[in-house]
Amino acid sequence: MKTIPFLDLAVRDTAERQALLDAVERVLVHGKFINGPELTTFEEQMANFCRRRYAVGVNSGTDALYIGLKALGIGPGEEVLTTAFSWIATANAICMTGARPVFVDIGPDLNLDPAGIEPLITDRTRAIMPVHYAGQVCRMDAIGRVADRHNLLVVEDAAQAVGATCHGQPAGSFGDMACASLNPMKLLSACGEAGVILTDDDDIRAKAVALRYNGMIDKTVCTQPGLNGRMDTLQAAILIERLEHLEDKIQRRIDNAAYYQANLNDAVGKPVARAGCRDIYFNYLIQVDRRDDLADHLQAQGIEVQTRDWDFLPRQPAYQSERGRWTQAAKVADRLLCLPVHEGLTGDDLASICLEVNRFLEITP
Ligand SMILES: *Cc1c(COP(=O)(O)O)cnc(C)c1O
Repeated sequence: MKTIPFLDLAVRDTAERQALLDAVERVLVHGKFINGPELTTFEEQMANFCRRRYAVGVNSGTDALYIGLKALGIGPGEEVLTTAFSWIATANAICMTGARPVFVDIGPDLNLDPAGIEPLITDRTRAIMPVHYAGQVCRMDAIGRVADRHNLLVVEDAAQAVGATCHGQPAGSFGDMACASLNPMKLLSACGEAGVILTDDDDIRAKAVALRYNGMIDKTVCTQPGLNGRMDTLQAAILIERLEHLEDKIQRRIDNAAYYQANLNDAVGKPVARAGCRDIYFNYLIQVDRRDDLADHLQAQGIEVQTRDWDFLPRQPAYQSERGRWTQAAKVADRLLCLPVHEGLTGDDLASICLEVNRFLEITP
Protein backbone atom coordinates (compact mmCIF):
# COMPACT_ATOMS: atom_id res chain seq x y z
CA MET A 1 0.00 0.00 0.00
CA LYS A 2 1.23 3.46 -0.85
CA THR A 3 1.57 5.74 2.13
CA ILE A 4 0.89 9.46 1.96
CA PRO A 5 3.23 11.14 4.43
CA PHE A 6 2.03 14.01 6.62
CA LEU A 7 5.14 15.90 5.59
CA ASP A 8 8.07 15.00 3.36
CA LEU A 9 11.20 17.02 4.03
CA ALA A 10 13.62 15.25 1.67
CA VAL A 11 14.85 17.57 -1.07
CA ARG A 12 13.75 15.60 -4.17
CA ASP A 13 13.83 18.38 -6.74
CA THR A 14 17.28 18.12 -8.32
CA ALA A 15 17.46 21.81 -9.26
CA GLU A 16 16.65 22.82 -5.69
CA ARG A 17 19.17 20.35 -4.30
CA GLN A 18 21.90 21.68 -6.56
CA ALA A 19 21.11 25.28 -5.59
CA LEU A 20 21.36 24.36 -1.90
CA LEU A 21 24.62 22.48 -2.43
CA ASP A 22 26.04 25.49 -4.29
CA ALA A 23 25.02 27.76 -1.41
CA VAL A 24 26.75 25.46 1.09
CA GLU A 25 29.82 25.29 -1.13
CA ARG A 26 30.15 29.09 -1.16
CA VAL A 27 30.14 29.14 2.64
CA LEU A 28 32.70 26.32 2.85
CA VAL A 29 34.97 28.33 0.58
CA HIS A 30 34.82 31.64 2.48
CA GLY A 31 34.72 29.97 5.89
CA LYS A 32 32.82 32.67 7.77
CA PHE A 33 30.57 30.16 9.51
CA ILE A 34 29.30 32.65 12.08
CA ASN A 35 28.12 36.16 11.13
CA GLY A 36 29.06 35.54 7.50
CA PRO A 37 27.88 37.71 4.61
CA GLU A 38 24.91 35.39 3.89
CA LEU A 39 23.48 36.19 7.32
CA THR A 40 23.44 39.91 6.56
CA THR A 41 21.92 39.30 3.13
CA PHE A 42 19.24 37.02 4.49
CA GLU A 43 18.38 39.48 7.26
CA GLU A 44 17.94 42.27 4.70
CA GLN A 45 15.80 40.11 2.43
CA MET A 46 13.68 38.83 5.28
CA ALA A 47 13.11 42.35 6.64
CA ASN A 48 12.01 43.45 3.15
CA PHE A 49 9.75 40.47 2.73
CA CYS A 50 8.00 41.22 6.03
CA ARG A 51 8.09 45.00 5.50
CA ARG A 52 10.24 45.65 8.52
CA ARG A 53 13.34 47.76 8.97
CA TYR A 54 15.29 44.97 10.64
CA ALA A 55 15.47 41.21 10.88
CA VAL A 56 17.76 39.55 13.42
CA GLY A 57 18.65 35.95 12.58
CA VAL A 58 18.73 33.53 15.51
CA ASN A 59 19.03 29.78 15.91
CA SER A 60 15.38 28.85 16.44
CA GLY A 61 11.87 30.21 16.61
CA THR A 62 11.86 29.50 20.34
CA ASP A 63 14.98 31.63 20.76
CA ALA A 64 13.46 34.35 18.59
CA LEU A 65 10.54 34.58 21.02
CA TYR A 66 12.73 34.39 24.11
CA ILE A 67 15.38 36.85 22.94
CA GLY A 68 12.70 39.12 21.47
CA LEU A 69 10.80 39.32 24.76
CA LYS A 70 14.05 39.90 26.68
CA ALA A 71 15.00 42.70 24.27
CA LEU A 72 11.66 44.34 25.08
CA GLY A 73 12.55 44.14 28.76
CA ILE A 74 9.84 41.65 29.66
CA GLY A 75 10.62 39.56 32.73
CA PRO A 76 9.73 38.46 36.27
CA GLY A 77 6.54 39.80 37.83
CA GLU A 78 5.00 40.52 34.44
CA GLU A 79 2.35 38.78 32.37
CA VAL A 80 2.05 38.18 28.64
CA LEU A 81 -1.36 37.40 27.19
CA THR A 82 -1.26 34.71 24.55
CA THR A 83 -3.51 32.16 22.95
CA ALA A 84 -4.72 28.89 24.48
CA PHE A 85 -3.90 27.14 21.22
CA SER A 86 -0.36 27.11 19.85
CA TRP A 87 2.83 25.14 19.70
CA ILE A 88 4.24 24.87 23.24
CA ALA A 89 7.24 27.10 22.45
CA THR A 90 5.01 30.18 22.62
CA ALA A 91 4.25 29.63 26.31
CA ASN A 92 7.70 28.30 27.17
CA ALA A 93 9.50 31.35 25.75
CA ILE A 94 7.33 33.64 27.89
CA CYS A 95 8.06 31.54 30.99
CA MET A 96 11.79 31.42 30.38
CA THR A 97 12.00 35.23 30.59
CA GLY A 98 10.54 34.92 34.10
CA ALA A 99 7.19 36.35 32.99
CA ARG A 100 3.97 34.39 33.11
CA PRO A 101 1.81 33.36 30.16
CA VAL A 102 -1.91 34.08 30.51
CA PHE A 103 -3.98 32.09 28.03
CA VAL A 104 -6.82 33.73 26.11
CA ASP A 105 -9.53 31.52 24.61
CA ILE A 106 -9.70 31.13 20.83
CA GLY A 107 -12.34 32.25 18.34
CA PRO A 108 -13.86 30.33 15.41
CA ASP A 109 -10.70 30.97 13.34
CA LEU A 110 -8.70 29.05 16.02
CA ASN A 111 -6.76 32.25 16.76
CA LEU A 112 -6.77 34.23 19.99
CA ASP A 113 -10.20 35.85 20.34
CA PRO A 114 -9.69 39.64 20.65
CA ALA A 115 -12.85 39.87 22.79
CA GLY A 116 -11.25 37.59 25.39
CA ILE A 117 -8.24 39.82 26.03
CA GLU A 118 -9.59 42.68 28.11
CA PRO A 119 -11.02 40.66 31.05
CA LEU A 120 -7.59 39.07 31.60
CA ILE A 121 -5.57 42.31 31.73
CA THR A 122 -4.07 43.14 35.12
CA ASP A 123 -1.56 45.75 36.26
CA ARG A 124 1.14 43.17 35.57
CA THR A 125 0.24 42.72 31.89
CA ARG A 126 2.96 44.00 29.55
CA ALA A 127 2.28 42.45 26.19
CA ILE A 128 -0.03 40.46 23.94
CA MET A 129 1.45 37.64 21.91
CA PRO A 130 -0.97 36.57 19.18
CA VAL A 131 -0.05 33.47 17.17
CA HIS A 132 -1.13 33.24 13.53
CA TYR A 133 -2.16 29.66 14.07
CA ALA A 134 -1.95 27.14 11.22
CA GLY A 135 -1.06 29.94 8.79
CA GLN A 136 -3.98 32.33 9.17
CA VAL A 137 -3.38 35.91 10.31
CA CYS A 138 -5.09 36.94 13.58
CA ARG A 139 -7.52 39.86 13.75
CA MET A 140 -4.64 42.25 14.29
CA ASP A 141 -6.76 45.42 13.99
CA ALA A 142 -8.92 44.40 16.96
CA ILE A 143 -5.90 43.18 18.94
CA GLY A 144 -4.07 46.43 18.21
CA ARG A 145 -7.01 48.50 19.51
CA VAL A 146 -7.03 46.65 22.85
CA ALA A 147 -3.25 46.99 23.10
CA ASP A 148 -3.44 50.75 22.46
CA ARG A 149 -6.18 51.23 25.04
CA HIS A 150 -4.10 49.52 27.72
CA ASN A 151 -0.67 50.55 26.57
CA LEU A 152 0.49 46.99 25.89
CA LEU A 153 3.13 45.76 23.46
CA VAL A 154 2.12 43.39 20.67
CA VAL A 155 4.58 40.63 19.77
CA GLU A 156 3.46 38.41 16.90
CA ASP A 157 4.40 34.76 16.92
CA ALA A 158 4.44 34.45 13.14
CA ALA A 159 6.14 31.03 13.17
CA GLN A 160 3.35 29.33 11.21
CA ALA A 161 2.49 32.22 8.92
CA VAL A 162 5.51 33.66 7.09
CA GLY A 163 4.04 34.66 3.72
CA ALA A 164 0.45 35.01 4.95
CA THR A 165 -1.14 38.43 4.42
CA CYS A 166 -4.17 40.48 5.37
CA HIS A 167 -5.26 43.21 2.95
CA GLY A 168 -1.81 42.90 1.42
CA GLN A 169 0.01 43.39 4.71
CA PRO A 170 2.32 40.51 5.61
CA ALA A 171 2.31 38.49 8.82
CA GLY A 172 5.24 39.74 10.87
CA SER A 173 4.57 43.40 10.09
CA PHE A 174 1.69 44.10 12.46
CA GLY A 175 3.03 44.12 16.02
CA ASP A 176 5.72 46.11 17.83
CA MET A 177 7.82 43.04 17.12
CA ALA A 178 7.37 39.72 15.38
CA CYS A 179 9.19 36.43 15.76
CA ALA A 180 9.25 33.46 13.43
CA SER A 181 10.59 29.95 13.30
CA LEU A 182 12.36 28.82 10.15
CA ASN A 183 12.76 25.19 11.18
CA PRO A 184 12.40 22.42 8.58
CA MET A 185 8.67 22.00 9.17
CA LYS A 186 7.84 25.61 8.47
CA LEU A 187 7.09 26.82 4.91
CA LEU A 188 10.19 29.02 4.83
CA SER A 189 12.65 26.52 6.21
CA ALA A 190 16.32 26.03 6.89
CA CYS A 191 17.95 22.58 6.81
CA GLY A 192 18.04 22.60 10.60
CA GLU A 193 17.11 25.00 13.38
CA ALA A 194 16.67 28.70 12.59
CA GLY A 195 14.49 31.64 13.56
CA VAL A 196 14.18 35.38 13.14
CA ILE A 197 13.17 38.49 15.09
CA LEU A 198 11.56 41.38 13.18
CA THR A 199 11.46 44.97 14.43
CA ASP A 200 11.50 48.58 13.20
CA ASP A 201 13.27 49.90 16.30
CA ASP A 202 17.05 50.54 16.32
CA ASP A 203 17.39 50.11 20.05
CA ILE A 204 15.42 46.85 20.19
CA ARG A 205 17.41 45.52 17.28
CA ALA A 206 20.70 46.35 19.04
CA LYS A 207 19.52 44.61 22.20
CA ALA A 208 18.44 41.52 20.27
CA VAL A 209 21.79 41.40 18.46
CA ALA A 210 23.61 41.58 21.81
CA LEU A 211 21.33 39.02 23.45
CA ARG A 212 21.80 36.48 20.69
CA TYR A 213 25.44 36.24 21.69
CA ASN A 214 25.96 36.36 25.45
CA GLY A 215 24.77 39.96 25.77
CA MET A 216 28.05 41.12 24.23
CA ILE A 217 28.52 44.43 22.44
CA ASP A 218 31.48 44.76 20.05
CA LYS A 219 32.87 41.42 21.29
CA THR A 220 34.16 43.08 24.47
CA VAL A 221 31.42 44.35 26.77
CA CYS A 222 28.61 42.32 28.29
CA THR A 223 25.63 44.54 29.10
CA GLN A 224 23.09 41.89 30.01
CA PRO A 225 23.51 38.15 30.57
CA GLY A 226 22.41 36.09 27.60
CA LEU A 227 23.05 32.73 25.98
CA ASN A 228 24.27 31.83 22.52
CA GLY A 229 21.46 31.88 19.97
CA ARG A 230 23.00 32.91 16.68
CA MET A 231 21.92 31.73 13.24
CA ASP A 232 24.58 29.77 11.33
CA THR A 233 25.81 31.30 8.09
CA LEU A 234 25.08 27.93 6.43
CA GLN A 235 21.42 28.13 7.39
CA ALA A 236 21.24 31.75 6.21
CA ALA A 237 22.72 30.69 2.85
CA ILE A 238 20.06 27.98 2.54
CA LEU A 239 17.31 30.39 3.58
CA ILE A 240 18.29 32.86 0.84
CA GLU A 241 17.63 30.10 -1.72
CA ARG A 242 14.44 29.00 -0.03
CA LEU A 243 13.00 32.51 0.26
CA GLU A 244 13.25 32.80 -3.51
CA HIS A 245 10.90 29.84 -3.95
CA LEU A 246 8.56 30.45 -1.03
CA GLU A 247 5.82 31.87 -3.21
CA ASP A 248 5.60 28.64 -5.32
CA LYS A 249 5.33 26.60 -2.16
CA ILE A 250 2.56 28.77 -0.76
CA GLN A 251 0.65 28.60 -4.04
CA ARG A 252 0.83 24.79 -4.05
CA ARG A 253 -0.62 24.70 -0.54
CA ILE A 254 -3.37 27.15 -1.41
CA ASP A 255 -4.27 24.96 -4.40
CA ASN A 256 -4.31 21.84 -2.22
CA ALA A 257 -6.56 23.55 0.31
CA ALA A 258 -8.90 24.66 -2.48
CA TYR A 259 -9.14 21.04 -3.62
CA TYR A 260 -10.13 19.95 -0.11
CA GLN A 261 -12.59 22.80 0.16
CA ALA A 262 -14.34 21.65 -3.02
CA ASN A 263 -14.15 17.90 -2.54
CA LEU A 264 -14.53 17.09 1.15
CA ASN A 265 -18.00 16.10 2.34
CA ASP A 266 -20.13 18.94 3.75
CA ALA A 267 -20.20 17.21 7.14
CA VAL A 268 -16.54 18.24 7.50
CA GLY A 269 -15.85 21.54 9.25
CA LYS A 270 -13.36 23.28 6.95
CA PRO A 271 -11.15 26.31 7.55
CA VAL A 272 -12.87 29.57 6.68
CA ALA A 273 -10.68 32.17 5.02
CA ARG A 274 -11.21 35.74 6.20
CA ALA A 275 -12.09 38.20 3.41
CA GLY A 276 -8.98 39.94 2.13
CA CYS A 277 -6.59 37.58 3.94
CA ARG A 278 -4.28 34.95 2.52
CA ASP A 279 -3.88 31.80 4.64
CA ILE A 280 -0.70 29.85 3.81
CA TYR A 281 -1.99 26.54 5.20
CA PHE A 282 0.89 25.60 7.45
CA ASN A 283 -1.70 23.06 8.57
CA TYR A 284 -5.01 22.16 6.98
CA LEU A 285 -7.29 21.58 9.94
CA ILE A 286 -10.71 20.04 9.68
CA GLN A 287 -13.25 19.58 12.46
CA VAL A 288 -15.22 16.33 12.63
CA ASP A 289 -17.26 14.19 14.99
CA ARG A 290 -15.61 10.88 15.93
CA ARG A 291 -12.26 12.39 15.12
CA ASP A 292 -10.21 9.56 16.61
CA ASP A 293 -12.05 6.93 14.56
CA LEU A 294 -11.53 8.93 11.38
CA ALA A 295 -7.83 9.32 12.23
CA ASP A 296 -7.55 5.52 12.72
CA HIS A 297 -9.37 4.88 9.45
CA LEU A 298 -7.05 7.20 7.50
CA GLN A 299 -3.90 5.82 9.13
CA ALA A 300 -5.07 2.30 8.25
CA GLN A 301 -5.28 3.44 4.62
CA GLY A 302 -1.70 4.72 4.78
CA ILE A 303 -2.71 8.38 5.06
CA GLU A 304 -0.71 10.08 7.80
CA VAL A 305 -2.72 12.60 9.79
CA GLN A 306 -2.21 14.47 13.06
CA THR A 307 -4.43 15.61 15.87
CA ARG A 308 -3.28 18.77 17.61
CA ASP A 309 -4.26 17.80 21.16
CA TRP A 310 -0.86 18.96 22.40
CA ASP A 311 -1.48 22.51 21.15
CA PHE A 312 -4.14 23.08 23.83
CA LEU A 313 -1.57 24.74 26.07
CA PRO A 314 -3.41 25.08 29.42
CA ARG A 315 -3.94 21.30 29.30
CA GLN A 316 -0.21 20.65 29.29
CA PRO A 317 1.07 19.47 32.69
CA ALA A 318 3.44 22.44 32.84
CA TYR A 319 0.56 24.93 32.59
CA GLN A 320 -2.37 23.27 34.32
CA SER A 321 -2.33 25.69 37.23
CA GLU A 322 -2.87 28.78 35.06
CA ARG A 323 -6.06 30.75 35.54
CA GLY A 324 -8.62 31.21 32.79
CA ARG A 325 -11.48 29.47 30.99
CA TRP A 326 -11.08 28.08 27.51
CA THR A 327 -14.55 27.01 26.47
CA GLN A 328 -14.00 27.33 22.74
CA ALA A 329 -10.57 25.69 22.80
CA ALA A 330 -11.97 22.77 24.81
CA LYS A 331 -14.83 22.42 22.35
CA VAL A 332 -12.64 22.11 19.27
CA ALA A 333 -9.53 20.37 20.63
CA ASP A 334 -11.04 16.87 20.38
CA ARG A 335 -12.54 17.52 16.94
CA LEU A 336 -9.46 18.81 15.13
CA LEU A 337 -7.64 16.75 12.55
CA CYS A 338 -4.76 17.87 10.31
CA LEU A 339 -4.79 16.42 6.82
CA PRO A 340 -1.55 16.44 4.80
CA VAL A 341 -1.41 19.66 2.74
CA HIS A 342 2.28 19.87 1.82
CA GLU A 343 3.52 20.83 -1.62
CA GLY A 344 4.69 17.28 -2.46
CA LEU A 345 1.13 15.89 -2.65
CA THR A 346 -0.01 14.71 -6.07
CA GLY A 347 -3.49 15.03 -7.51
CA ASP A 348 -3.95 11.31 -6.85
CA ASP A 349 -2.94 11.76 -3.20
CA LEU A 350 -5.50 14.51 -2.72
CA ALA A 351 -8.20 12.49 -4.44
CA SER A 352 -7.61 9.42 -2.30
CA ILE A 353 -7.55 11.47 0.92
CA CYS A 354 -10.92 13.04 0.05
CA LEU A 355 -12.30 9.65 -0.99
CA GLU A 356 -11.32 8.05 2.33
CA VAL A 357 -12.58 10.92 4.49
CA ASN A 358 -15.89 10.99 2.63
CA ARG A 359 -16.22 7.20 2.68
CA PHE A 360 -15.73 7.13 6.44
CA LEU A 361 -18.38 9.83 6.96
CA GLU A 362 -20.85 8.08 4.66
CA ILE A 363 -20.55 4.63 6.21
CA THR A 364 -20.56 5.94 9.78
CA PRO A 365 -22.93 8.91 9.87
C1 LIG B 1 7.51 26.14 15.34
C2 LIG B 1 6.93 27.13 16.28
C3 LIG B 1 7.68 27.77 17.27
C4 LIG B 1 9.07 27.37 17.65
O1 LIG B 1 9.97 27.34 16.67
P1 LIG B 1 11.31 26.46 16.73
O2 LIG B 1 12.04 26.95 15.55
O3 LIG B 1 10.89 25.02 16.61
O4 LIG B 1 11.99 26.75 18.00
C5 LIG B 1 7.07 28.76 18.02
N1 LIG B 1 5.79 29.08 17.85
C6 LIG B 1 5.02 28.47 16.95
C7 LIG B 1 3.59 28.88 16.80
C8 LIG B 1 5.55 27.45 16.14
O5 LIG B 1 4.78 26.82 15.26
